[in-house]
Amino acid sequence: MNVRKTVHDLQRVPKRANPYAYARYLKRLSARIALRSMLARLNRAKWLFRLWYKDFDRRYIGRYAPQTCPRRILEVGPWSRDKDSDFWIPRPNGDSCCSFCGSAHPDVFFRVLNEAADPNSSTYISLSDKRYKIYLQIDGVVNAMEGPIKFYTQHLADYQDFKDRRDEWNALFVAAVQASNTKLMERMSMRAVNKEDAD
Ligand SMILES: [Zn+2]
Repeated sequence: MNVRKTVHDLQRVPKRANPYAYARYLKRLSARIALRSMLARLNRAKWLFRLWYKDFDRRYIGRYAPQTCPRRILEVGPWSRDKDSDFWIPRPNGDSCCSFCGSAHPDVFFRVLNEAADPNSSTYISLSDKRYKIYLQIDGVVNAMEGPIKFYTQHLADYQDFKDRRDEWNALFVAAVQASNTKLMERMSMRAVNKEDAD
């Protein structure tokens, strides 16, 4: 009897399925599937909550006067088109922003345009790649939590003062853009000088 061959043959015998190991495998698999479906359900709940939250910000009912954000009506999105679903929320710096799109109030925008057109003020505006979006740089406002950082021109569509004095607004806007560009150029050249000094 060739012992070596026998051992070799034994090793070649295919492994029998171990029912206990298979049961453990099934248990682990079902636990993994359950965990994954629970996470998927949580994720779905999170997104539904976000949609609901954006749909109608119930925190502000009765505290602030309602308004209708034009971007709610014009933009493509899963939110409702109900009127008066939005509010002007005062930010810590005192300026009001739209609760739906975060745009500054048109009054604030008008004030910022006046400041930006003034060469002695450090306030400036900058245009974006979207024609309707204008960035605002106000002193003391670093991010959107502190105050307005942008304005959406859709908010002017139903704004009475803009309708009444459209030419004045437009002239002021042009002046503000020109003055802002000058301020930005000055800031950039100052930075370049500082960099040379540092080097
Ligand atoms: Zn808005």
